[in-house]
Amino acid sequence: MCGSMSKIAENYQKVLEEIEAARACRTRVPKDAPVQLIAVTKNHDVEAMREAIDAGATDVGENRVQEAMKKLPVLDRKVTWHLIGHLQTNKAKHAVEHFSLIHSVDTPHLARAIDKEAGKLDKVQDILVQVNLAKEESKSGVYKEDLRPLLELTDELPHVRLRGLMLIAPNYDDVEQCRPLFHEMYEIFQKVKEFPFQTANITYLSMGMTHDYRIAVEEGANMVRVGTAIFGPRQY
Ligand SMILES: *Cc1c(COP(=O)(O)O)cnc(C)c1O
Repeated sequence: MCGSMSKIAENYQKVLEEIEAARACRTRVPKDAPVQLIAVTKNHDVEAMREAIDAGATDVGENRVQEAMKKLPVLDRKVTWHLIGHLQTNKAKHAVEHFSLIHSVDTPHLARAIDKEAGKLDKVQDILVQVNLAKEESKSGVYKEDLRPLLELTDELPHVRLRGLMLIAPNYDDVEQCRPLFHEMYEIFQKVKEFPFQTANITYLSMGMTHDYRIAVEEGANMVRVGTAIFGPRQY
């Protein structure tokens, strides 16, 4: 079995092991809280996706709605789809049709567009709010000062259900520099759990990618989005 394992299957297992090792190293957060691995399949073909799914992947992440829509009809596997990239309001309709969880809600305008499209489908769309904790100009995400009003708005929208928070950490040369941000994000997540929401069910803290997921898990991430470590470098 091991001898015939594909590279992708091998990598997938290795990432799972790294996650478990990082979980065991937690000092500031409960060790027993499990972590959901999302295999980020953007710019990888359906063959590679099938290998990951056959190796145990239950959740895949895509950046672009159109790319996911091309893969959906040919994939021939059951899997949970996550939209992790920036979403334009004019793509909200298709996003709502195809994704279980949208990680990248960062404006009232986008939240309302998702609510409207989900309403037409009689669906309640699970979402995360993306936070731009380091205030990087090049990145999407709401600043922490503006987080509470956006959370309250999403909580009131009837066809949106707020499930948690998402962070993309800056790409520091020294990955340890991410640790204080992940820690701060976990503290914000804990505070948000205490807000008196109507319908929100705060469950997920989505943070950590190939270069920083071990640290993110140590600091309390319970959902990580990993592409390169599973599939190798992307070809553009
Ligand atoms: C591409 C991407 C990832 C995965 O990045 P890797 O470095 O390949 O693991 C995770 N999250 C988001 C939002 C992405 O766009």
